[in-house]
Formats: sequence, C-alpha cells, structure tokens
Amino acid sequence: MLPDFPPLPPTVSAPVEHASIERAQATELAVEIAPLPYEAKLDARPLSQIDLVVIHCTETPTLASAREFGEKVLYEGSGTGNSGHYYIDRDGRIVLYVRPDRVAHHVRGYNPRSIGIELVNTGRYPHWRDSKHQAMNEPYPEAQIVALQALLAQLRREFPSIRYIAGHEDLDTAMEQALDDPNVEVPRKRDPGPLFPWARAMEGLDWERLTPPTGG
Ligand SMILES: [Zn+2]
Repeated sequence: MLPDFPPLPPTVSAPVEHASIERAQATELAVEIAPLPYEAKLDARPLSQIDLVVIHCTETPTLASAREFGEKVLYEGSGTGNSGHYYIDRDGRIVLYVRPDRVAHHVRGYNPRSIGIELVNTGRYPHWRDSKHQAMNEPYPEAQIVALQALLAQLRREFPSIRYIAGHEDLDTAMEQALDDPNVEVPRKRDPGPLFPWARAMEGLDWERLTPPTGG
C-alpha cells in the first residue's frame, strides 16, 4: 500500500518575463537621465507623433564607446549627431540620451515618428564594411533583454500612440560597397541581427512588427 502523503502543492513555474514586466508596471523603471550635449538642438515634436519603436544594437564594444559616438557632431548646420533615445547595457542598465520629445537621428526615413532603443552589442565592430566580418555573433544577455522588456512595457503605457516596432535592419535595407573588395556589397545596417530574440521582445505587446515592402 502506498503511504498516505499529503498532496503536493501545485508546481509554481515562474514566468520570468511576465513577472519582470509586472514588476516594472508596479514601480517606476530605473532610467538614468544623461542627455547628449546637443539634445536641445534636436527638433522638438509632439509626443502624439510617436507611433514606432526601432530596435538597434550599438555595434560598438561598450556603452562608453557608444556614448562617444553619440556625442560626435556630424551635422554642422544643426550641431547634432546620430544616436538613439535609450541605451541598454549588457547588465540591464538603462540610460536616456535623448528625451522622446526630441527627434533623434537613428534611422533613415523614420526619425520624426520613432523612438530608438540601442542595445550595447559589439556587432561587426570595428569591421562594419569588411565583407569577411559580417557576422553578428554576440548573444544578447538575459539581463539586457529583461530590461528591454520592462522599458517596452513602460513605453507602451506612456505612449498610447505607439503601434509599431521594427529592427533597424528592417527599415534600412541599403547595401554599400565593401571596403576590402569593391565587387562585393555589404548591408549598411544589420542591427539588431539574427541573435535578437524577437518573440521575447514582443511578449505582452500589442504592437505590429513593421516590415516595409522590399524592393523599394
Ligand atoms: Zn541601428
């Protein structure tokens, strides 16, 4: 005869991703505010204009090197440069470089309507245009993805006008000549790349992944 054990409590399998999003909903997300020096020179916009979030990776080795790149003035006329709005380091630390009420330069053709999120990831650095170094093979760490999920959940609450999400590679599909071989073309943008976990990023979001028609 089997011993009469009391019934076991139901197994609790922690839905980690959902739990983290709920935590973020319950408490304000920790975001460090560190505006770029030229933030005030970027075009202002009404927040209702924002309907798209664009996911990038920095293709630089560290947050510090991404910052250096972001601070560079590339447009003499306006005194501004290229950057996303939010940066997420590998350990999940989130830093705001440009407030969402300013248009940052992070994606060709979609800047006025979008918020850019940059994940620190080496990408093709420093051989972006070398045909032999096109792999994007650094995985995105768990802490970084959990922080991204929390940030996306917060943006969803904060900006009801957002309806779309896209990768930089979805929106800028231009090719350019490789530096090591003039007969070969490489993609201008490959971020966030094949290792980016789209299904996890989209969990709990009712946004549509924007993939414009190709061949245009
Ligand atoms: Zn990008």
